[in-house]
Amino acid sequence: MSAAYDENNIFGKILRGEIPAHKVYEDDDTLAFMDVMPQAEGHVLVVPKAASRNILDADPATLGPLIAVVQKVAIAAQDAFDADGVTIMQFNEAPAGQSVFHLHFHVIPRREGAPLRP
Ligand code: C5P
Repeated sequence: MSAAYDENNIFGKILRGEIPAHKVYEDDDTLAFMDVMPQAEGHVLVVPKAASRNILDADPATLGPLIAVVQKVAIAAQDAFDADGVTIMQFNEAPAGQSVFHLHFHVIPRREGAPLRP
């Protein structure tokens, strides 16, 4: 069972405009912005505007529009960074690697022979 959503997480603050972010896409349901500690050039985070801690508590109605934007951003990032592929990652709860507790997908353009930075 997941813990409750806490609106004071950093992505909640970005969504409310309380702290800045380098936005690359926005619509009624979704925001995408550059990761401040990119694991590769062009690392983007895609988040729903709805309050979800992670995929475990997300309303299924949130996931359709969200994954459609993940695909749109992945195609655009691959193109913009002339990448050979795109890694898409998503973590749920701290033991699984989640550090910011607002649902997000990592979209990371990848180049042949270039490992992700830690
Ligand atoms: O999936 P996880 O929760 O581990 O990843 C959180 C991501 O949020 C990290 O890649 C981190 O660099 C990013 N981040 C950010 N801007 C912040 C705080 C964290 O882009 N202000």
